[in-house]
Amino acid sequence: MYSTGEYREFAGADSRFLYLVPSGGIFQLDELSGAVLDRFRTGAASAEQVVSDLLPRGFAPDDIAETVQELFELRALRDGKGFENIVQEPPADFPLQTLVMNVTNQCNLSCQYCYEFGADKVATPEGKAKFMDWETGRQTVDYLIRESGSRKNIHITFFGGETLMNFPLLKKIVGYARDETAKRGKTIDFSLTTNATLLSTAIIEFLSENDIGVTVSIDGPKATNDQFRVFPNGRGSYDIIVPKIRELIARHRSRPIVARVTLTTPDVDVLGIYKHLKHDLGFYEVGIAPVTTSPDRLYSIGERGMDKVLDQFRALSQEYLSFALKNQHHGFSNVSDTLSELHQGISKSHPCGAGLGLVGVGPSGDIAPCHRFVDSDIHKLGHISTGIDTARKADFLDRGNIGNKYDCQTCWARPLCAGGCHHEAFVRYGDTGHANLHYCDWIRDWTDICLGIYGTLADSNPRFLNQFADRKAQ
Ligand code: SF4
Ligand code: SF4
Repeated sequence: MYSTGEYREFAGADSRFLYLVPSGGIFQLDELSGAVLDRFRTGAASAEQVVSDLLPRGFAPDDIAETVQELFELRALRDGKGFENIVQEPPADFPLQTLVMNVTNQCNLSCQYCYEFGADKVATPEGKAKFMDWETGRQTVDYLIRESGSRKNIHITFFGGETLMNFPLLKKIVGYARDETAKRGKTIDFSLTTNATLLSTAIIEFLSENDIGVTVSIDGPKATNDQFRVFPNGRGSYDIIVPKIRELIARHRSRPIVARVTLTTPDVDVLGIYKHLKHDLGFYEVGIAPVTTSPDRLYSIGERGMDKVLDQFRALSQEYLSFALKNQHHGFSNVSDTLSELHQGISKSHPCGAGLGLVGVGPSGDIAPCHRFVDSDIHKLGHISTGIDTARKADFLDRGNIGNKYDCQTCWARPLCAGGCHHEAFVRYGDTGHANLHYCDWIRDWTDICLGIYGTLADSNPRFLNQFADRKAQ
């Protein structure tokens, strides 16, 4: 006997599709496979019963039986035995690919929601280096190269605090890392995140000449940005950064410049923010994320607020779709990132690369699962001079594994979500391995929106999806 398996059905422009859980694959239903699945809505049945039920509709018996078998192999149908889980488990010796180098833990802004300095901070930087020195930077590069094993291409993301407060080190690291990787037949690329306050013509030229990807943290037009993104004296940063951003976008032509927005209030105008950053300032892409925080903070968006934000995300996503149908680029990177994961058929064992192909290294050389845990003693995985404590890393990864998140086992969104950000889980629940249950509705609604866009494009402009075959999240 067969019954319905684990999938999420969604509609394209004129086809029906299945999002297959937990494999993360997408399957387009034809008339027969749609009819077979519909048959199971009325209850379990044997293959023979399905054949006899569908014969009057003119399908050939062999075709019906084959389709039942195919849907079973795809796990859209299950038999009495159920299935073993098939998430993509990482190998034990996963080589390092990306290192986030926090070149300083100091910042010249004082954004109240900042996970690094705000009320929810996990960092314990007291007594540790504030700026990474050359020796630590050099050893960090050596560590990345050593731990990248047979990988040909590796990546450093410079981060802070405010990254550009330690620009002299960054500049030296770029030259050193290029030389050292070239000697070993590897290539390296770089990116950085900045609040843009310290950008200068010389820095912009360096970034452009060295193909360094730049993400700028900015929250929108002046009133929105200056609500939280302020200097220690309370003065907003918008007027300082905008001329610098304009120069960055005009002069840095070797990589697209991306804006990263943190939403802090439900009454925010997401479309207005996007339009300002994309059209008035000229960013290539804009990524938007609700603030990560405990629920009792002033800037927490809250459940009802998230519904409002989702409505605006939906509207902006529809604009994305209308652009995509005309083969035009739209810069709402949240959609592009999710389409990429859907197109690549990703089914995650862990929510992100933290502690797997990615680690964060702080100014002191301490290694953390990612940049958000840098300088936190309780999350320290090791030091670049001595390497990673394998037991601590195993504990972190074990907690974060989707297989150990009880609440997620029956959720159809788990191939992409895998329980959500370890850092957010720690801030909310005090455990990096806790499922982020406060945003399940958001994740599932958002995934539904993106499945709809995927299906419409698969039907109406499938070539548009090809660009997502190897895109990485921005
Ligand atoms: S955290 Fe929620 S949305 Fe994410 S996989 Fe778990 S149950 Fe699903
Ligand atoms: S999703 Fe969270 S844990 Fe993962 S890399 Fe990002 S901030 Fe770190």
